Amino acid sequence: MKSIVVIGAGMGGLAAALRLRHQGFQVTVLEKQARPGGRSGIIEEAGFRVDPGPTILVMKSAFDETYQSLGLDINRRLDFVQLDPNYRVYFHDGTFIDLFSDIHRLASEVEKIEPGASFGLQRFMASGERKYALGMDFVDRNYDHITDLMNPVAGLRLAQTRSYERLYNQVGRFFKTDKLQKAFSFHSMFLGLSPFDALAMYSLITYADLALGMWYPKGGIYSIIEDMLDIAADLGVEVRTNAPVRQIAIENGRVTGVYLESGEFVPADLVVSNADLPYTYRCLVDPAHRKHYPNTRLDKMQYSCSGYLLYLGVDKTYSHMRHQALYFSEDYRANLDAIFKTKTLPEAPSFHLNLPTVTDSSLAPKGHSLIYILAPMPNLTAPINWQQAAPIVREQLLTEIEKIVDPNIRRHIVWERQYTPEDFQNDINAVHGTAFGSLAQGFFQSAYFRPHNKARDIEGLYFVGQGTYPGIGMPMVLLSAKLVTERIVKEWHSNIPKV
Ligand SMILES: Cc1cc2nc3c(=O)[nH]c(=O)nc-3n(C[C@H](O)[C@H](O)[C@H](O)COP(=O)(O)OP(=O)(O)OC[C@H]3O[C@@H](n4cnc5c(N)ncnc54)[C@H](O)[C@@H]3O)c2cc1C
Repeated sequence: MKSIVVIGAGMGGLAAALRLRHQGFQVTVLEKQARPGGRSGIIEEAGFRVDPGPTILVMKSAFDETYQSLGLDINRRLDFVQLDPNYRVYFHDGTFIDLFSDIHRLASEVEKIEPGASFGLQRFMASGERKYALGMDFVDRNYDHITDLMNPVAGLRLAQTRSYERLYNQVGRFFKTDKLQKAFSFHSMFLGLSPFDALAMYSLITYADLALGMWYPKGGIYSIIEDMLDIAADLGVEVRTNAPVRQIAIENGRVTGVYLESGEFVPADLVVSNADLPYTYRCLVDPAHRKHYPNTRLDKMQYSCSGYLLYLGVDKTYSHMRHQALYFSEDYRANLDAIFKTKTLPEAPSFHLNLPTVTDSSLAPKGHSLIYILAPMPNLTAPINWQQAAPIVREQLLTEIEKIVDPNIRRHIVWERQYTPEDFQNDINAVHGTAFGSLAQGFFQSAYFRPHNKARDIEGLYFVGQGTYPGIGMPMVLLSAKLVTERIVKEWHSNIPKV
């Protein structure tokens, strides 16, 4: 039986391990941290259960398909709730709108901000539907040759939707007010791109959120990781924590296993790395074995942004709040330019606000709430001293939370934790402390142009997760697990009985 080592127990690493085991391979997962999950990790303290990273899922079909491929039904194992509205969007002047999935309710909301905007909304959604179809043509497939990009139908959709334009500019054709332009363009931030630079194609994410819905699993996102670990135990996948890999062993151009920091050698026929791809090449593969990925190439890649996160446990509940919200500071461009261009601390940060206890009281002690605040920040290529910056950002965020949630919020905080770009780097080896994923999803780092899930120079080395295609976000890393499994099965399967 062929043996596979998966480096990293992020969602993509775990999904690949389960799929490969199901296909008959012997699989061992080696995770650096004390608990699996990676960016989809967990903090459990003082009676609070916090998802420190992802809080919500879109494209639920990717989760359904992952389980179906294992002969399981995720909906029988976990309890999903659809959010509606998806988000409440707060503006600097205290006004807000709810982004409902229900298109009629959404139309009334946009009319409140901009009379006549419901017509723009209809056109925006129709264009989003075509962009979504266009995106899906490129997402669910392995790439070997540049000719794999050739697709006449996709070419037509590209031209019809002008997906090659800048996102923010194009949103301005559908909505006139600055407020709606913000509300319908921010999604590219989750791919590590400023809406001022991202391709208009990425409004497909806004479309997917609104048309396909946003889902929350009871118990939080980590309940998915916990369930995957149960399945791993049932299938016989070995998951070792506190097992950081120091080097991928390569002999005569092919992998032979991995060395742990402890000095232990774990032999393997194949290695699948779920650790950040640029980190894997730079730190785990000797330069002599990676002529296609020298440090000079890794240096030139476009890295995505990071984030500052504040988690608060408070001894109060807030019935006026929605589960998910966004706050936009007045000068959106200045905020985004600070993150992506000047790489300085934003003067007035915009942020994502999450109160999961609105939907799920099990995450906090009775009568308490959990408040999660995520402010996108420059990554660690910026000369920011986070020891000094963290208290400044915390203060800015609390000042806004006083306006949005509770003027007396500080009096009710009973538990608090924060997470900075340095933590992303130290905890999970995130390159430059990037948050959502390491490589920004610009055109030249997408589809065929994103690093492939198979190393060109080293036989038996593969990749899974956000660093390879299709890219960033939980549904995408689940798809990457599907794609790398298909590739490995095609290349290495020799009548192995399925588990
Ligand atoms: C704050 C935040 C909010 C987000 N919100 C959402 C959201 O709402 N919805 C959504 O879909 N996505 C969201 N994302 C993105 C999503 O979480 C990630 O894209 C996805 O989880 C990445 O998964 P991955 O499989 O690529 O692995 P990662 O989670 O990156 O895990 C990689 C693993 O490799 C391990 N590792 C690294 N080096 C080594 C080594 N040398 N040896 C052993 N192990 C190693 C790490 O410890 C880690 O466990 C969010 C991310 C963040 C940070």
